[in-house]
Amino acid sequence: MDIVIRNGTLITLGGIFSADVGIVGERIVVLGEELHGKMELDATGCYVLPGGIDPHVHLQMPVGNYVSSDDFASGTVAAALGGTTTVIDFVEPEPGEPLLDALEKRRAEADGRVAVDYGLHMTIPTWHAAHPEALDTLSEVVAAGVPSFKLYLAYEGLRLDDPQLYRVMKAIAGVGGLPIIHCENGPLCETLRAQAVAQGNTTPIYHALTRPPRQEAEAVSRAIDLAALAGSPLYVVHVSCEESMLRIQAARVRGEPVYGETCPQYLLLNGMALDLPDGERLVCSPPLRTEEDNEALWGGLAFEDLDVLATDHCPFTAAEKSGHADFTTIPGGLPSIEARLSLAYHFGQRHWMTLERWVEVCCTNPARIFGLRRKGQIAPGFDADLVLFDPARWVTIQAGRTLHEQVDWSPYEGMTVQGWPRDVLSRGRVIVCDGEFVGEQGWGRFVLREQG
Ligand code: MN
Ligand code: MN
Repeated sequence: MDIVIRNGTLITLGGIFSADVGIVGERIVVLGEELHGKMELDATGCYVLPGGIDPHVHLQMPVGNYVSSDDFASGTVAAALGGTTTVIDFVEPEPGEPLLDALEKRRAEADGRVAVDYGLHMTIPTWHAAHPEALDTLSEVVAAGVPSFKLYLAYEGLRLDDPQLYRVMKAIAGVGGLPIIHCENGPLCETLRAQAVAQGNTTPIYHALTRPPRQEAEAVSRAIDLAALAGSPLYVVHVSCEESMLRIQAARVRGEPVYGETCPQYLLLNGMALDLPDGERLVCSPPLRTEEDNEALWGGLAFEDLDVLATDHCPFTAAEKSGHADFTTIPGGLPSIEARLSLAYHFGQRHWMTLERWVEVCCTNPARIFGLRRKGQIAPGFDADLVLFDPARWVTIQAGRTLHEQVDWSPYEGMTVQGWPRDVLSRGRVIVCDGEFVGEQGWGRFVLREQG
């Protein structure tokens, strides 16, 4: 054995039990007792979990005049320190750009820089949806390891109308792919935003007030119905409110293959904070909601109405967020790539989450849904992506101190959580040791994913 993790408490799909984990090369080869190897890590007092998988991040992503402040290097180091060993980011083709060219370009930005393994989702923007021949290469995109496709119902240049949505979903289903979708009613939001600004309602709280829960739920319902008509499965990203979750629940009761994702910000933060000092930092879409929504989404995550806890990590600096004449020009997005596992552990215990469910929504389900065949479980044959999680360690979240995200603030600033990753392994290599990054940029690889 090259590495043995000894005396840990394993959290797996099959339950919670004490065992040693034996690793040869990049893979787990055996779970057992009294295993020995060239290197032994003592996990006494720690939980051992599969490496976290964050299937929704935006690293060095251009948004209008801005670029999200974590690049592929800094963002994946922060991910590793937080116990996340695989991230899935996005390819966003330019109008007229072939999908495979855009994929190659995005991979060139990440390869050689990422500290952990990564995958990519392919965005189908408006231009490509409007030019059916642009979709001729979908099966080649799937063959290149990208079987999930990002669709939008909001934002100029990205938004698909109903016929486009139907046609694109049908094409994706035809190649065995999975559409993942941002559900907000874009044209309605644009109308409400213009109206607010015209009435002089320009402060950040109007960002939330002009994107109400019901318009998101309407878009969720429409996506679900069009997916059913197109014979396609569906994954709804960043579900922010109870009303949207109920639409997903109803589809699942009908037996439809609809998955739901939420994010820490929709479980822990309140939209009224947009009205407080520095409220503009909290601008993201969909917007932060109410405490009732927080509670409903925790329940959904715990009791299987939702499947995945991702982050939608998309940081902008305090300076980039501030000084805007009105809320419509504030770059949208929040950081949370590093604290996801710990926030879910600490606050999850207060919201019906079992340890098994915690691991399921942060690790196992994203691997299963997104075709990461060798990740998300602690079992022989799987990649030795592992987290030794110390449930006794208290950490007060502070940007630039306890966090390593390349951004000068955190929406969780000052919150204290108990439970933090101690050591992290990526494919059989220790990349975090006692809370310090000891890996290397460029260690991470592009993972070829297989759907279905
Ligand atoms: Mn989105
Ligand atoms: Mn996003």
